[in-house]
Amino acid sequence: MNFNLKNITRENVKGLSPYSSARDEYVSDGSTMVFLDANENPFENGVNRYPDPQQRSLKTILAAQKGIKEENILLGNGSDEVLDLLFRAFCEPKQDNIITLPPTYGMYKVLSGINLVENREVLLTTAFQPNIAEITKAIDEHTKLLFICSPNNPTGNSFSTAIIEELLNSFNGLVVIDEAYIDFSSEESWTSKLADYPNLIVTQTLSKAYGMAGIRLGICLASPEIIAVINKIKPPYNVNQLTQDKAIERVSDQKAVQTEVASILEEREKLMETLKTISFVSTIYPTDANFILAKVDDATRRYNQLLEKGIVVRNRTTQPLCENTLRFTVGTSEENNIVITALRALSN
Ligand SMILES: *Cc1c(COP(=O)(O)O)cnc(C)c1O
Repeated sequence: MNFNLKNITRENVKGLSPYSSARDEYVSDGSTMVFLDANENPFENGVNRYPDPQQRSLKTILAAQKGIKEENILLGNGSDEVLDLLFRAFCEPKQDNIITLPPTYGMYKVLSGINLVENREVLLTTAFQPNIAEITKAIDEHTKLLFICSPNNPTGNSFSTAIIEELLNSFNGLVVIDEAYIDFSSEESWTSKLADYPNLIVTQTLSKAYGMAGIRLGICLASPEIIAVINKIKPPYNVNQLTQDKAIERVSDQKAVQTEVASILEEREKLMETLKTISFVSTIYPTDANFILAKVDDATRRYNQLLEKGIVVRNRTTQPLCENTLRFTVGTSEENNIVITALRALSN
């Protein structure tokens, strides 16, 4: 590997220094001060002050839980904002390119379009693993980001550790490992390898296992040098006060999160067992996530039949390698029982 952060940072970003807001210039040490520096309304209502642009209280908890430093963390308005910031920090429009591995999360492609950056798609193998030979062929000197979603959406499986290691070792750009579903997986997070790979970025989110999709909190984990570059272009108040408060409350209650995850995993097994008995289901793919991808006889027909019974699943039939597949998110026990009853009624 011949990775050099300077070589892959956009020229205009190299010259920037982060916007210094009032809340950056004077950091409260906890003593009672009179704050007349940010043109805020002084009457207290819980949100009359600007939020901490560096979300220090939340980062302190996250750093301790993940065994890393605050300097390894950047937070965003969902991981979707974090992913967008990566394009804007590292990819020169109309010049650079990224590599994605379909079938995978749709936002990488959407963001490449928005940012006018070429998206080179390299299909997964039929075993839903990255195709190293084809990825290597697709890489050139303008390839800045390689997106690896593991566990992968919509297939549900984790990618082989050896394959990811080989990509980390051989690629001179940034390897972005999207761990949105890591809390449902028995695989270890790549966060523990941050010190080993200067080109590694891990993204996580509170939207899935943590049950907080509505507050929009995404997590970017990388070397302090990479985090410093992204901090230069981050909107100063991208994570609002309500989100910071709610996130602190939730991540501080690991027991509640673990109880829900355990229930979802148990329910996933129940749903898998049922799907095996359904006549029109031909394949149930292995999953490390809170959803199950299943191949059926006619995905669009089955999707519509479930809709008629008031059940909305995701039809993935138009995705490459996913012909006639449906994606079932694991719900509560009651919700899953409704799906099971519906599937059995249709299975004759
Ligand atoms: C759901 C999902 C996310 C979550 O994005 P947020 O913006 O944090 O809600 C990220 N990546 C993948 C692969 C997902 O499926």
